[in-house]
Amino acid sequence: MAAPKTLLVLENFINGKFVPCSSYIDSYDPSTGDVYCRVPDSGKEEVEIAVTAARDAFLSWSSKSLQERSQIMNKLADLIEHDLEAFAQAESKDQGKTITFARTVDIPRAAYNFRFFASSILHHTTECTQMDYMDCMHYTVRTPVGIAGLISPWNLPLHLLTWKIAPAIASGNTVIAKPSEMTSVTAWMMCKLLGRAGIPPGVVNIVFGTGPKAGEAIVSHPEVPLISFTGSTLTAQHIKEKSAPHWKKLSLELGGKNPAIIFEDANLDQCIPTTVRSSFANQGEICLCTSRIFVQRSIYNEFLKRFVEETRKWKVGSPSDPTVSMGALISKEHLEKVKNYVKKARAEGARILCGEGVDSLALPTGNQNGYFMLPTVIAEVKDESCCMQEEIFGPLTCVVLFDTEEEVIKRANGVKYGLAATIWSSNVGRVHRVAKRLQAGLVWTNCWLVRELNLPFGGMKASGIGREGAKASYEFFTEVKTITIKH
Ligand code: NAD
Repeated sequence: MAAPKTLLVLENFINGKFVPCSSYIDSYDPSTGDVYCRVPDSGKEEVEIAVTAARDAFLSWSSKSLQERSQIMNKLADLIEHDLEAFAQAESKDQGKTITFARTVDIPRAAYNFRFFASSILHHTTECTQMDYMDCMHYTVRTPVGIAGLISPWNLPLHLLTWKIAPAIASGNTVIAKPSEMTSVTAWMMCKLLGRAGIPPGVVNIVFGTGPKAGEAIVSHPEVPLISFTGSTLTAQHIKEKSAPHWKKLSLELGGKNPAIIFEDANLDQCIPTTVRSSFANQGEICLCTSRIFVQRSIYNEFLKRFVEETRKWKVGSPSDPTVSMGALISKEHLEKVKNYVKKARAEGARILCGEGVDSLALPTGNQNGYFMLPTVIAEVKDESCCMQEEIFGPLTCVVLFDTEEEVIKRANGVKYGLAATIWSSNVGRVHRVAKRLQAGLVWTNCWLVRELNLPFGGMKASGIGREGAKASYEFFTEVKTITIKH
């Protein structure tokens, strides 16, 4: 059925060309609740065509010099930066995030992902060892893996997709990428720039559609030997099962239930605004957001009072309003899910200190049907509660008290996830001690979300397998071989 003309209609990008799809799905503007875009509902057939294009492009792309690939990627970064405002507007409308967040975080980072890997790819070296008593030397070579299957979520759409595409193509692979069906617009916009940047047809193919159809077709395709996935732990489990018969290389970046541990010697003037931000930035829809705040007994009451006051300053409203701190949640279903956790907490006897069900939310006329919710703080919740154990991925955070260092380490580690953690203390010895014992792939002390792309990023336990970053991504997107020479 032809799509109505008034809606934005996306097309797949395969072999350097936009190609229509036989069926489409609706995509909503979360700030109004209206359908505004139609996304290809691709499946096996479209993925098969993309695999052919990626296979045909591989030899030529992987044979290019590193410098040439690097130059092309820098050009793509230039083009994204040139169109930054258009990309930011589109990302905000598609995802519900504030225009400020899209302008200052998502799109600059998407451009920087290309620039970063364009540079880092030039600086890797391989290993060499000597075995003189055998008159031998050994060295390693690295080669691209082939066609990379890249699947990304809806919370940081272009940011996370380019975090995969950039290292994959820098390393000489060709790719088939699938953004979330809920946030596909900026990926489609970027396709318009690929040819202008000099990326040859077939090197980057983007197939739009749902996880069960398009995603699964990529994951189970025998000619796609590598899958880089960012998304939920549940989907990752499914991907592991589907890809297992093909012995695929997997990188899985998954959910979190991230603790912030606030000791009595913390600088609360810095800690409180940062912890409000780490709880509610991007509507709490960042895998690294804080959702369990452990506060030492002697400062608990003061912390709670000031934390709630600071949270109440966060304005919720139209994402296009630059004075707003929080926009809309991604979907009606997700909003209901997050609100349900508040209901469950209340039923369990927890105290809702601000936000959902406590304060009133005033929205502009045009946003009455959007998926908004106030930032919500819950206290007196038990560690076993679903609010303290499950990833909620919304603007809801729990504050609980603790007494000792030993106790808080145990409780912070007492969830199935292990992505990120934050420690607030002015005691250097304690900071090192606790950081080492926390089960988390990333630990920030006295700060949050300060990213160093050179170093490994990723989670432990149910938060994932593998790491991403300059060296980690290079190792993932290449195969290593050891060669021995007798002389
Ligand atoms: P999701 O798992 O529902 O979807 C992620 C992607 O996988 C989407 O593109 C989706 O279409 C696709 N998908 C779904 N089912 C699939 C299947 N059967 N086969 C192949 N692909 C499939 O996750 P989401 O709701 O889009 O994103 C939120 C989740 O992502 C949260 O759990 C969050 O913590 C996590 N996340 C993790 C990181 C990280 O770096 N660790 C970063 C951002 C988000």
